[in-house]
Order: sequence, then C-alpha cells, then structure tokens
Amino acid sequence: MTVLTVAEHRGGRLREVSRATQTAGLELAEATDDPVHTAVVGGDAERFAPRLARDGVDVVHTVAEGEEFTYDIATQALTQLVADIDARVVLAPGSATGLAYAPAVAARLGWPVVTDAVGLDAADGLTVAREADGTVTTFAVDGDRAVVTLRPGEWPSAEATGDAEIWSFAADIDDVAVRSTVTGSETLGDRELTEADVVVAVGRGIGAEANLEVVFDLAEAIDETVAAASPPVKRGWLPPERQVGQSGVTVAPDVYLAIGVSGAAQHLVGMRESDTVVAINRDPTAPIFDVADYGIVADFADVVPAPVAAFDS
Ligand SMILES: Cc1cc2nc3c(=O)[nH]c(=O)nc-3n(C[C@H](O)[C@H](O)[C@H](O)COP(=O)(O)OP(=O)(O)OC[C@H]3O[C@@H](n4cnc5c(N)ncnc54)[C@H](O)[C@@H]3O)c2cc1C
Repeated sequence: MTVLTVAEHRGGRLREVSRATQTAGLELAEATDDPVHTAVVGGDAERFAPRLARDGVDVVHTVAEGEEFTYDIATQALTQLVADIDARVVLAPGSATGLAYAPAVAARLGWPVVTDAVGLDAADGLTVAREADGTVTTFAVDGDRAVVTLRPGEWPSAEATGDAEIWSFAADIDDVAVRSTVTGSETLGDRELTEADVVVAVGRGIGAEANLEVVFDLAEAIDETVAAASPPVKRGWLPPERQVGQSGVTVAPDVYLAIGVSGAAQHLVGMRESDTVVAINRDPTAPIFDVADYGIVADFADVVPAPVAAFDS
C-alpha cells in the first residue's frame, strides 16, 4: 500500500510535525515494504519539497494551490492525489489543520477516519492504536484503507536526508466549491522552539545577560528564535522553555547555531538531530565542535555583530 503523509506549513514555514508524520509513515510502510509519499499543498510547496525529501520517502508531491492552508483546497487536492497514486493510507498531523481536512478527505473517499493515533501497524492488516486515560486500544481497520491523524509528539522527526523524487501534482480545483479563504493571521507570542527552522542557542560563554541583545538582534534579523543551554536559564536570562537538552526541549531544526555552548552530553542530546550545526566557541577543543558541521573558533563578540550589521543594511 502506498502511504501518503501530509506535510504542514503556516506563515511561510514548514512545520516540524511534517517530518514526524513522515516517520510514522516510514514505520508503517516498513512492515509491508510499500512506498511512502508526502504531499505538500499550497504556500511555497516547491520550496518546502527538498526539505521533505527524507531518507526512505519515495516521492514528494507539490500542489501549487492556495497561499495558506485552505480547507477546501486541501480536501480537493488530497482526495485527487490519493486516487492518482492509489494511496491506501493517508497520515495527517493531529493539528487544527489536519483535523480540518482529514475527515472531509475520508468522507469523499468513503474511508474511515481514525483520529489521535499513537501507534500504527500494517504487519497483519492495518491497525491503529489510540490512548485515553492510560489505556491503549488497538483498532483493526476494515479494508486496510483509512485516513489517520496522529497525536502530536508521538513520533520523532524523520531527519536523515534522502533522495525522494519531487513531482508537481496538478490538482483540478473546483473554485466554486472553495468556500473559505484565509483573510489574515496574527502571531500570538513567540514561536515554538520545536518549530523553528533555525535555532540560535546561547551558552554560558556569552558571559552576561546584556550580551543577549546582539543574539536577539541576529535571531530577529533572520526571523528565527533563541534557545539556551542550561546556564543562561539557571541565571534567569531566558525562560526554562527555551532550554535545549536532557532537561529541556529536543529540537531538530535545519540550522542550529550554538554560541558559547561547550557541547556537554546533556545539551547535545537535545540538538544533535539538527540538519546543520554551526558552533562559535573560543575553545578549539570544545566538544561542540565534534558535532558541528561548521565551526568558528573565536570570541562570539567578534563574530556575531557582523551578520547583524549586514542584515541591518
Ligand atoms: C541531570 C542533568 C541534566 C542536564 N540537562 C541539561 C540540559 O537540558 N541542557 C543543557 O544545556 N545542559 C544540561 N545539563 C548541564 C550540562 O551538563 C552542562 O553543564 C551545560 O550544558 C553547559 O552549558 P554551557 O555549554 O552553556 O556552559 P559551559 O560548559 O560552561 O561552556 C561554555 C562555553 O563557552 C565558551 N566560551 C566562553 N566564552 C566565550 C566567548 N566569549 N566566545 C565564544 N565562546 C566562549 C567556552 O569555551 C565553553 O566551551 C544537565 C546536567 C545534568 C547533570
């Protein structure tokens, strides 16, 4: 069976949940050795596609319809794509977006929809596990075809880069049936760390809270977010939800920029799945350089202001 996973984006950003959905798809397909395809509908689908070409994914379908997520377009496009590639299982994030189109796609296909899955198996027919109040219930899906939404946080991100083909899918959208449009959006508060494409992380090496300013300037210039190793959090320079590592958050952004971070094991465990690690540290023997793709041995104060000034100009 072809497993189709659906990617998600918002405000011009690919959401991390897209890759977690791919992991679920890859696990499901492993038992039966079936192909895994991913669909990305609307927005900058072409731009997102290479980032969805994870190891084990066979094809990424781009659908250039709609700038933001639009319920009616997603429903029409996905229903057509499923028929075109003969997908038997559609996996969608259990997000507000996924929960908007998944039941509609299932209804159009005449398939069941199973929401909030915490486990999937295809070894002996399609089974889906759901959990409530500490009890996990496993469902056998009649006919082995279903649209399934996945509980957030249950699957890790598919990290390794692969060589998926990228195909453009020309969906035949019935404009008359498109009855909703996105009229605006407003960001409330800071973006979640786990969703950022680039994480700018600071460690004890930045020396003082005042030095955070230039780091925030850099993060703002690239419209990205700031994280920390434990010392800046312990000193109260950044809130605990910004801590990356064993006692904090696990992130896997496209780029992790570590500034004045030594690279202790408890920190590395929270960021080592990042695509590209860039480290700025004045100690050439700092363990962060063992995991860094690019390293700058320097005082951060001599390095960070230059790109900020360049962005300003
Ligand atoms: C149970 C447990 C859980 C933990 N959980 C976490 C966790 O979730 N996250 C976490 O991060 N840590 C965690 N730790 C702490 C961890 O062991 C390290 O102590 C911590 O990660 C070190 O943070 P750091 O790299 O900021 O500081 P340091 O190890 O002190 O490193 C500072 C680095 O900055 C460099 N530096 C100094 N000045 C400059 C400068 N001017 N320019 C450039 N570089 C400079 C230094 O060369 C050094 O490499 C945990 C520890 C334990 C025991």
